[in-house]
Amino acid sequence: MKAQDGVYIDGAWRPAKGPDLIDVVNPADEQVIARVSAGTAEDVDAAVRAARAALPGWAATPPAVRAERLVALRDGLLARKDEIAETVTAELGSPLAFSQAVHASVPIAVAGTFAELAATHAFEEKVGNSTVLHEPVGVVAAITPWNYPLHQIVAKVAPALAAGCTVVLKPAEDTPLTAQLFAEAVHEAGVPAGVFNLVTGLGPVAGQALAEHPDVDLVSFTGSTAVGMRIGALAGGAVKRVALELGGKSANVILPSADLARAVNVGVANVMSNSGQTCSAWTRMLVHTAQYDEAVELARTAAAKYGDRIGPLVNAGQRERVRGYIDQGVAEGARLVAGGGESPHEKGYFVSPTVFADVTEDMTIAQEEIFGPVLSIIRYEDEDDALRIANGTVYGLAGAVWAGDEAEAVAFARRMDTGQVDINGGRFNPLAPFGGYKQSGVGRELGSHGLAEYLQTKSFQF
Ligand code: NAD
Repeated sequence: MKAQDGVYIDGAWRPAKGPDLIDVVNPADEQVIARVSAGTAEDVDAAVRAARAALPGWAATPPAVRAERLVALRDGLLARKDEIAETVTAELGSPLAFSQAVHASVPIAVAGTFAELAATHAFEEKVGNSTVLHEPVGVVAAITPWNYPLHQIVAKVAPALAAGCTVVLKPAEDTPLTAQLFAEAVHEAGVPAGVFNLVTGLGPVAGQALAEHPDVDLVSFTGSTAVGMRIGALAGGAVKRVALELGGKSANVILPSADLARAVNVGVANVMSNSGQTCSAWTRMLVHTAQYDEAVELARTAAAKYGDRIGPLVNAGQRERVRGYIDQGVAEGARLVAGGGESPHEKGYFVSPTVFADVTEDMTIAQEEIFGPVLSIIRYEDEDDALRIANGTVYGLAGAVWAGDEAEAVAFARRMDTGQVDINGGRFNPLAPFGGYKQSGVGRELGSHGLAEYLQTKSFQF
């Protein structure tokens, strides 16, 4: 697989300061497909300096011109759509059709939304006797995970550039090749040198150096709650802005009036998609006791259909983690009705689509994020019981409600402690704010709310 040599700083690829390389492994066959530089604290420092030096010029660039560069970036990504999909498939392992339809297409659409927002946002407004300016927050450290490699990057870098910020990106070590393709597209889009910089590397080395760099104004992090807490503490200690998109354990609440078969089938597809490596996946399905057995049977059948269509998990460690949760589910008394820890293939980090019934809310598999293709079906007695269970984790990222009547579903969804809820299978909206309640995070991404994270206000009184 094609890989760039070095890191992208101040508009050019240059050798990293240290000799270390990171192996990029195809999780479907366990072969090393490329090697990329493991950036050091010195590389991070050089990237932050470049971003700082480029900030005044980019911040002063008219929003309409920034919008033009974002249109060019969107077009550049579009031109590379097939290469992006193939690269994501090679380093993340997701089936090519899913890489094309989701991993490549969604971020291209998102880049387009920020091009439009850059052109249309009111960067200056009148409030009574004041003029309020919306100014860029400054140098942004963007730290991203591997699960949606390009989406996570675009969801940070595109609004940052639209706002007039400059960026240093540290992508996940498992998926650096997609990040390199993104950097090439930024370069070709004519974004000035230093406005965007890429340092590949290890989280505890390059990521940590970036998060604690004194010349970074905002750390925007997506990843695990454990690392997010550390980054939040670091940022708090330095009175630095921070945005955290963390884990989830979302509830799919099926009310008795719902179309049960549809709700279960869409719910299973939601969990199995991307091999369960989706922070907003509805990994807890809540079903009324009267419909419980029927729902379990429907879920079992639906999961079986995914058998060999599902991709692997991203790496061996992640597979072992997921297997550990499956073993724990069995040990704590949940009933395995589909899948299990065994791999359906000889090579690769695969885990079969797995469904647990008779899961109770106190079990580990009902409380902790598994990040694999594992669904837990939980029984509830009445609506209040369902609400208590739905809200009964430390997370609050997403969720779903199904009911015969939309208003009934909405009434339930209003009481959920979570950042977004899909009503009767509502579609993804790239302009709707995305982010968590509780330990799922701080801040919002996408659309105008996502843009606002990269702006700060200054008021003039007259
Ligand atoms: P992770 O926290 O291990 O890594 C995320 C990023 O942080 C990577 O780039 C990594 O290199 C870096 N990192 C690791 N240690 C660091 C440190 N000490 N300092 C600075 N950076 C460091 O998470 P992961 O395993 O890559 O991703 C899975 C997690 O991400 C799941 O918990 C998932 O729910 C979460 N996630 C959340 C969202 C969301 O929008 N809320 C989206 C996707 C993934």
